[in-house]
Order: sequence, then structure tokens, then C-alpha cells
Amino acid sequence: MDRNSPEVMTAIQAAIKASALCEKIRVDLAGGESLLKSDRSPVTIADYGSQAIICKLIKERFPNDTIVAEEDSKELRRSDRSRILGQVTNYVNAFIPASSSEEVCSWIDFGSNSVTDRFWALDPIDGTKGFLRGDQYAIALALIEKGRVKLGILACPNLYADIQHPFGERGCLFLALKGKGSFQMDSTGVNKRPIYVSKAKSPSEAIITESVEPDHADHLAHQRLAQKLNISKPSLRMDSQAKYGILARGEVTLYLRVPSSAEPGYKENIWDHAAGSIIAEEAGGRVTDVLGRPLDFASGIKMEKNQGILVSNGILHEVVLKALEM
Ligand code: AMP
Ligand code: MG
Repeated sequence: MDRNSPEVMTAIQAAIKASALCEKIRVDLAGGESLLKSDRSPVTIADYGSQAIICKLIKERFPNDTIVAEEDSKELRRSDRSRILGQVTNYVNAFIPASSSEEVCSWIDFGSNSVTDRFWALDPIDGTKGFLRGDQYAIALALIEKGRVKLGILACPNLYADIQHPFGERGCLFLALKGKGSFQMDSTGVNKRPIYVSKAKSPSEAIITESVEPDHADHLAHQRLAQKLNISKPSLRMDSQAKYGILARGEVTLYLRVPSSAEPGYKENIWDHAAGSIIAEEAGGRVTDVLGRPLDFASGIKMEKNQGILVSNGILHEVVLKALEM
């Protein structure tokens, strides 16, 4: 896939619009109200708005493509939710003028549950809990062909653009194309530059990143691993696939996601890792599960063949896998 291909252009345009919508909602409403889905995870008007915009733009250009996306409009269509649907529609209108509530719901429902030979995986807001706290979150979109990620884009609207200026400008767009490298851009899609993972050769130089939410990963297991490998720098806790972005640009060396003891059999969702994984790999990193197996983007919405996640700068991958075995 070429850098100027319609897939890349559409993905960038969709991520920029969705990211602007999410930031507008975060600033206007401090994230707004959240509803609880049947699995008790939160969903906000920004999740719905982001999915509506991205699905609409993809379907318009690629009507035959499948989109496997996290949300659907079932809850939004309930009669007691009409006020929330009204809010979603108003925000979507700021980016796609004259859209009706019915259209917004139908765009959200372009999302499907089954993977095909070629499909897009979308998390309209990854790290919804981070979004609601005013911390990190990401809009994650990937194109997958025959189980392989070909294109990944991560918009991280609240992530500092440059580690040297952690309180400076915020908003990053990460893009990776199979075989063509990883790049960071500003949140408007300009100022594109290549990014690379850290060159750390010794585990003792490493910095680990992990989830903020203790239910999403086993922090204690990560701590034990750090001790075993003489990693003394404190772990960096961050929500969402922004973790893949900061690893890809060399700020941290390892992203650990050992399944939490509360849910040891947890199967990861493809939209939580597809975009991030290609961004880390194309920047020179390596991505597997905690047993060293490649990520499974072909089985369905769940990564049935995997357990947890390990991302590294490549150099340290084997030594960390060994330490995880013990
Ligand atoms: P993070 O921000 O890295 O903690 O990851 C956020 C993602 O964690 C959400 O999008 C959920 O899909 C996912 N998630 C929810 N429950 C679990 C769990 N028990 N273990 C691992 N990930 C989970
Ligand atoms: Mg997610």
C-alpha cells in the first residue's frame, strides 16, 4: 500500500475528524455522561460520534469493506436515551453537516461483528476510562487483509507531541504502513516525521509502560518481572494504545500486559491492538503475546489464540519472554 493510496488518505481524514470531535466533547462536557454497556464498560457520546464519523467516511469510499467496530446503536436508540442521541447528532453535525439522528445511528451500525478477508478494525475511543478522567485515550483504526495488519492509525488527542516538552503542545497522530515504516504527525496531519523504537540493549535500561486500570493487567506480575530483570526505572502507567505510540517513538522500551488475576482467561479485542501493533513493529519493535506467539487478527473480534501482550524494542524481546516463563 502506497502512502498516497485512498485507504491511507481516508484513514487519516477520518481519524483527524474523530479526534477533533472527541476533544471538543472532552473540553465542552468534560467527557459528558457515560452509559454502562452490558459488560459494565463505559461508553460516551464521543465513542458514538467518533464511530459514526469514521464508519461513514470509510463506507463512502470503500462500500464493500467490512468494519469491525466496538459500538452499536442499540442503547442509543432506546426511547429514554433520546437526549443523548440528540447530543451525539449535534456533535457529529459539526463535522458532517445536516446529519440526522437516524443517519448517525445507521453509520454507527456499519460496524459488524465478523471478520472477513479484508476489513477495518476500529476502536472509536480506546481507553474510555482515560478519556473520562481527562487522561490518555486514542482513536484506533487498522486495515487488516488475510489476518495481517496493513495499515494502522492512532490518534492520541491528549498526548504530548514531544517528550522534551511534556506540558507543551498536545495531540499526535501515529501512522504505519506495512513495510513502509512508522510516522508521527501533528493532530492536523502535518509535520510528518519517521519514528523509531529505543535502542536499549540491556533490560536494566528499560522503561515499562502498562495500563492505568488494575483490572486490565497484572501490575504485580509486571513488578516482579522488573525486579528479575533489574529494571529500576518506575513504570509509566498510561491508558489506551497511546502506549504503543510512546514505545514506537522510543520513550519507553517495553509494554507489558500480563492478564490480570481477576480475569486470567481474558481474551483481548482485535481493535485494542491492531493499529498499535503495526505502529510498534514498523518503528522497529516486536509484538507478541506473553508466550511469544504472534497476535491473532484472523479468528474473530477476540484474539482467541493469545494470552496477554508483550511489546518491546525487538532487542529485548527474547530476554523478557524468558523471564516471563519463570
Ligand atoms: P488500557 O487502556 O490499555 O488499560 O486498555 C483499555 C482496553 O482494555 C479497553 O478497550 C478494553 O477493551 C480492555 N479491557 C477490558 N477488560 C479487560 C481485562 N480484564 N483485561 C485486559 N483488557 C481489558
Ligand atoms: Mg479499547
